[in-house]
Amino acid sequence: MLSGYDNAIITITRMDAVGPMTDMPGTRLHSSSDPWHNASMIAVKLQNIRVLLLGLLAYCLLLSTACIPLQAKEPLIPTNDLPPDAAALLVFSKTAGYRHASISDGIAAIQTIGVEYGLRVDTTEDAAIFSDQGLAPYRAVIFLNTTGDILDAAQEAAFERYIRAGNGYVGVHAASDTEYDWAWYGGLVGAYFADHPAIQTATVQTSDQSHPSTVGLPAAWQRRDEWYNFGSLPPAEAQILLTIDEESYSGGTMGDLHPLSWAQQYDGGRSWYTAMGHTGESFSEPLFLAHLSGGILWAAGLSDATALYLPKLQH
Ligand SMILES: [Zn+2]
Repeated sequence: MLSGYDNAIITITRMDAVGPMTDMPGTRLHSSSDPWHNASMIAVKLQNIRVLLLGLLAYCLLLSTACIPLQAKEPLIPTNDLPPDAAALLVFSKTAGYRHASISDGIAAIQTIGVEYGLRVDTTEDAAIFSDQGLAPYRAVIFLNTTGDILDAAQEAAFERYIRAGNGYVGVHAASDTEYDWAWYGGLVGAYFADHPAIQTATVQTSDQSHPSTVGLPAAWQRRDEWYNFGSLPPAEAQILLTIDEESYSGGTMGDLHPLSWAQQYDGGRSWYTAMGHTGESFSEPLFLAHLSGGILWAAGLSDATALYLPKLQH
């Protein structure tokens, strides 16, 4: 599903992930202390130098073929050894009601997105992190299939301050089945879950392809998930990104405009929500992952810097 360009970037990424070249198995021969093996050690060293030079040459060729994008991507090249000031995301998946089995799949997918874009991803189900100090390291907090009343009043106030300071919120699926009594949160997520029919395949419509979370998505695409009806439409100011065709499945109750994903500026911060992500399979679907990663980057305020590197999907 990826273009050649994306493959080149991913290849470089994986080379970087291998770690320092001194960790290559061949270099262990250098530690031999047997003096009678000096001649063969020199030969081995020369062989290693040749291998390193060839590797360097191949790397330089890759650089020259993707020179400009690679330089632009440089600060966000993923490594296994992120600098302490790397942008960070927090995945919060506390549940006080229904618990989705797909939470572990979602965490793994978001961790992979973090590796792809050089972002640190922390995960927790401990609401105690919702303090000014606890949230300070993060550019966005991802409510991954949270349910019910999960924050106390002080934690809610801290999160309100966090968003007002210009940070980001991502809501995935049951994030709209969360905190019904916290009106500010209702505005942040945009609409509350009402009910859903059985899991089934339906047609998703990309109503706005201008957003980082929808760029490259097909105008209409089919997938299987649990399709939420909402108690209301998202606010008029929200940018509706995806809708569902209620003719394509049974159990939709919202009519001609049935939003599935939207984005909004909210109380000084950014809010992005997707209703998809009930099933574990969702988190290995290329189209859904492109949608999710674009939403996360946008909410984290990183989509401008990384727009060149969002998956360019063929369809
Ligand atoms: Zn669900």
